[in-house]
Amino acid sequence: TFNALLLTKAEDGSTQAAISALDEAQLPEGEVRVAVAYSTLNYKDGLAITGKSPVVRKFPMVPGIDFAGTVAESSDARFKPGDAVLLNGWGVGESHWGGLAQQARVKADWLVPIPAGLDARQCMAIGTAGYTSMLCVIALQAHGVKPSDGPVLVTGANGGVGTIAIALLARLGFEVHASTGRAAEADHLKQLGAKEIVDRATLSAPGKPLQKERWAAAVDSVGSHTLANVCASLRYGGVVAACGLAQGLDLPASVAPFILRGVTLAGIDSVMAPYAKRVEAWGRLAKELPLDLLEANTETIGLGAAAATAAKLLAGQVRGRVRVDVNAA
Ligand code: NAP
Repeated sequence: TFNALLLTKAEDGSTQAAISALDEAQLPEGEVRVAVAYSTLNYKDGLAITGKSPVVRKFPMVPGIDFAGTVAESSDARFKPGDAVLLNGWGVGESHWGGLAQQARVKADWLVPIPAGLDARQCMAIGTAGYTSMLCVIALQAHGVKPSDGPVLVTGANGGVGTIAIALLARLGFEVHASTGRAAEADHLKQLGAKEIVDRATLSAPGKPLQKERWAAAVDSVGSHTLANVCASLRYGGVVAACGLAQGLDLPASVAPFILRGVTLAGIDSVMAPYAKRVEAWGRLAKELPLDLLEANTETIGLGAAAATAAKLLAGQVRGRVRVDVNAA
């Protein structure tokens, strides 16, 4: 047997989370069984574990949208026992049992070899959030954004996506401005590479369709009024990579920034991103992310603490990333 965090639906409709001993025979279909070393807590895991949003499509569910570990068994020629692998997305932890367990069985197509220069522990200090930050950076660069264009704004700065985006952009030579509701964490954000701290309250209320031109580009994990105000404050020809909804799923914006300033809204999805994009993003993370900053940005917990920490994450009380050692209590 192995331990897993198991989500069940109670009669009153609430989601219950408990550590359960499961049998390998209960694992879902898939060509590859992985001995999981680490998983993480992302915003979506917080929604799944607390039941705050209908992320989980069927119960019982093992949550955990990402994991890293070692292949234990494979019927697919691309993988053999002992291979170091990672996974994020593809509905794992939503419709297919996920990473918050000591074992997982998944489709071979979903696995990415851990790139040279990273180990399982470091990969999960990055996790889906950090990989999404890299997808955002790739999108900004694909639209031609360069450090000489001007400062780049990162919203949701203290979150998983935000912190890794700051570190990546600063390393690439961008002047990074960090929007946060937690001014007390300014020193941490500056250590990651932020030059200026922006009070998120200045972006979170309804604003004018066109505002002072401030940023050449932005990485937005917040959505709603914040994304609308970011679009309205981008410089002529600016680009925003939009990946999140921490403030809300809505986008109460006008087309003015798009039709009068040539602003580009680039959507970012990590879940269904094709294999080549994943390999590119993880390969670049291994080379470009300053790994010495990772540990100070990461809290490591055991499987037993995952449910309580998920609630803290949704309450905005977690800084940076949460890595889960699934073999610790
Ligand atoms: P996280 O660690 O919880 O970070 C979210 C951050 O957003 C918080 O730390 C907080 O930063 C800020 N925030 C929270 N509530 C807010 C509010 N009401 N108004 C304004 N800012 C608020 O979450 P994460 O894992 O980084 O994910 C961030 C977002 O990206 C989530 O919405 C997630 O679903 C999304 N995401 C999407 C993809 C994709 O494939 N598109 C992939 C990964 C994540 P401060 O305390 O610094 O203000």
